[in-house]
Amino acid sequence: RFISFEGIDGSGKSTQARRLAETLRARGLSVDLTREPGGSEGAEEIRRLVLTGDPGRWSAETELLLFTAARRDHMERRILPALARGETVITDRFADSTRVYQGTTRGALRDLVDRLHELMIGREPDLTLIFDMDPAAALARTMTPDRAGSEDRFEGFGLDFQTRLRAGFLEIAAAEPARCRVIDATGDPGQVAARVLDALGQVPA
Ligand code: ATP
Ligand code: C5P
Repeated sequence: RFISFEGIDGSGKSTQARRLAETLRARGLSVDLTREPGGSEGAEEIRRLVLTGDPGRWSAETELLLFTAARRDHMERRILPALARGETVITDRFADSTRVYQGTTRGALRDLVDRLHELMIGREPDLTLIFDMDPAAALARTMTPDRAGSEDRFEGFGLDFQTRLRAGFLEIAAAEPARCRVIDATGDPGQVAARVLDALGQVPA
């Protein structure tokens, strides 16, 4: 099964993806926990190209092509082989992040995003968990000393940006209820983890 974790920065995707992978492994499943941008050697190199440097380094279109190239490599080299071996793949971000970040929030490229996805990726996760919470609270979670030295050129884009991202993710969830579940991302990590397991129980194993 192919599961993606999506949501605004600081909503707890990475924390919960790790927890879910551990829980499923403890139940005897083979789990490949991965992330985007990145997840394969080539895609991690592209991640560095995309996330470092000054904010205007790439045009919106070039940025979209780089994210798509990274996803294609990640699919070819890691996700599809793992699924073919019968593993459960959990990815921390996937195509919905591109739909929202490159497609609507940072530019009006949604049509191009969809066309590129169809041409080059062509596969959706079986289940997408969308972590939802107040953007100010999520932003506060990211203001920790361990992230202070981050070179991520997108970090600190601010509340307006995060608010638009949140709306974008919720729009996708509403448009695709068969694939997406919205997870209330507030509360402590244990509470959120329980909601994640609950959401998993709602779809066939
Ligand atoms: P990003 O997309 O920006 O990488 P993320 O959605 O993957 O963020 P995490 O990295 O999991 O989020 O969490 C962001 C910060 O919030 C971390 O410092 C993490 O320890 C903390 N955190 C995660 N979940 C919770 C929670 N339920 N309550 C409080 N803090 C949390
Ligand atoms: O989730 P993670 O912190 O690894 O994401 C790295 C950065 O890339 C974040 O700042 C996120 O906002 C940004 N990003 C993006 N477009 C995507 C995926 C992530 O701008 N499609």
